[in-house]
Amino acid sequence: WAISRNRYWGTPLNIWECEGCGHLESIGSRAELAERSGNPDDAKVELHRPYIDAVTFTCPDCGKTMKRVPEVIDCWFDSGAMPFAQHHYPFENQELFKQQFPAQFISEAVDQTRGWFHSLMAESTLLFNKAPYENVIVLGHVQDENGQKMSKSKGNAVDPFDALATYGADAIRWYFYINSAPWLPNRFHGKAVQEGQRKFLGTLWNTYAFFVLYANIDGFDASKYTLEYDKLPVMDKWLLSKLNSLITEVDTDLENYKIPETARALDDFVDQMSNWYVRRSRERFWAKGMEQDKINAYMTLYTALVTVAKLAAPMIPFMTEDIYRNLVCANDPSAPESVHLCDFPVANPAYVDKQLEEDMEEVLKIVVMGRAARNTANIKNRQPIGTMFVKAEKALSDFYQEIIEEELNVKEVKFTDDVREFTTYTFKPQLKTVGPKYGKQLGGIKEYLANVDGNEAMDKLNAGENLVFDVNGTEVSLSLDDVLVEMSQKEGYMSEADNTVTVVLDCNLSEELVEEGFAAEIISKIQTMRKDSGFEVMDHIKVGIAGNDKLAAIAAKNEKAIADKVLADSIDKDAVYANSKEWNVNGEKVTISVEKQ
Ligand SMILES: [Zn+2]
Repeated sequence: WAISRNRYWGTPLNIWECEGCGHLESIGSRAELAERSGNPDDAKVELHRPYIDAVTFTCPDCGKTMKRVPEVIDCWFDSGAMPFAQHHYPFENQELFKQQFPAQFISEAVDQTRGWFHSLMAESTLLFNKAPYENVIVLGHVQDENGQKMSKSKGNAVDPFDALATYGADAIRWYFYINSAPWLPNRFHGKAVQEGQRKFLGTLWNTYAFFVLYANIDGFDASKYTLEYDKLPVMDKWLLSKLNSLITEVDTDLENYKIPETARALDDFVDQMSNWYVRRSRERFWAKGMEQDKINAYMTLYTALVTVAKLAAPMIPFMTEDIYRNLVCANDPSAPESVHLCDFPVANPAYVDKQLEEDMEEVLKIVVMGRAARNTANIKNRQPIGTMFVKAEKALSDFYQEIIEEELNVKEVKFTDDVREFTTYTFKPQLKTVGPKYGKQLGGIKEYLANVDGNEAMDKLNAGENLVFDVNGTEVSLSLDDVLVEMSQKEGYMSEADNTVTVVLDCNLSEELVEEGFAAEIISKIQTMRKDSGFEVMDHIKVGIAGNDKLAAIAAKNEKAIADKVLADSIDKDAVYANSKEWNVNGEKVTISVEKQ
């Protein structure tokens, strides 16, 4: 490290050289300088040029004059002296220095590898034979959306203040946390920032807004209640279990500088809190009065929101502060006045129920697959389905089965070890491997595979055996690598599978199910018309069904079920009331009308 620089401004190099014999000396303090020059004023000398250069003294070897060399010290030397120089150590603050040295972590971008990271390390090793920091978070550079270096001349640079004004500080911070490990280069573009804004910040804010909306309607004050764990239903216990597992995960990840992992854990939790817990618990908040079940729902969601605010506060300081201050400080003047003054949450192991978390995870997986199967079969969610078969590692209890049935609008979920009745496999030769081996037999191989018992063949291949057969006198032997496998289903069934779970929807709709589907569609259309007509939630109406005898008959048959849902006093065949509209209901044209009573 050539630490001298030919500059005027900077820390003067503390080396004096004899103009006669070239003798060199390094001076360690002002006191030493005054002692050598014999001038007591030099103990107070300004240590910069030109003042310091006026101090000279006699050479001990030849008696000529010793003068400071003209160079200053490389400014990286000053940066590297930060740990001790900031405290004027060792002249002062010895205890303070000991408390703070070495640092737990330092962070700068990758260009500091040969700069600050190095100069700190070099000086600390020289002086203390010890690293001055325990961890280095090396940040990758921010690039443009095509992975190019940002530069003013290319015109692809983003002004950080414009970006902050456009997207907000929380959204930009969040993008950098969740996008990739901090040491990788980050491609910065608005769309990606907005995606995180929508997915995480938006979902968190909407969940919070949902809570506030109903808490205000009910005048709910969380500081007047306590969370009574033993009284909670399974959904609440599930959210609290996930929450306490999240606390441990976030704490451990942050402790280990795992930044994107932390962000993803928060993102997943907020997604499940909103799209599973709140969605499935919504009606509990709509209930009249303040029964125990409603208190449970409020206190569970309140606990989750406040805890998430504290967990996410280091990453999205502004939104979490808003949430915390409104949820906590507004009701509790004794609480810390900022989320950033709160203690970091500590997990309560008594709330963690891993079995419950696993079971619900399976429910969620089955529901996602069931929805996919419904989509492929092109059956709307409002159309009830009779049976869904599920093959999974273990069968879930009735409680979870009912959740699945409700979510997927299926009358019955049946766990089974065997879904072969509904699914089979089809095979085609993998030309890359089969071609070179059995080029001439290819036609025969295709024919054999087209006629093979799919389930039986798949069992063999899965067990590591080959399919062995004869084509025109040549023995053919195919392994799993030699075939392209596709799962297919029996007519009238639709399946979806991964490594552990298979779901099979029975898409054969009985007349009853079809009628129920029509009734559900009619209800949905009437609800839409109520809204479009500007009726209040409590307004009673009359309904007309005209121009379609089939639907009129279905409406008559299901009159009570429909009337209860849409608050109708009557459903009248062939009547056309004030607000009418022609609809296509599952292929049936019908005029539906509504009027306030
Ligand atoms: Zn000399």
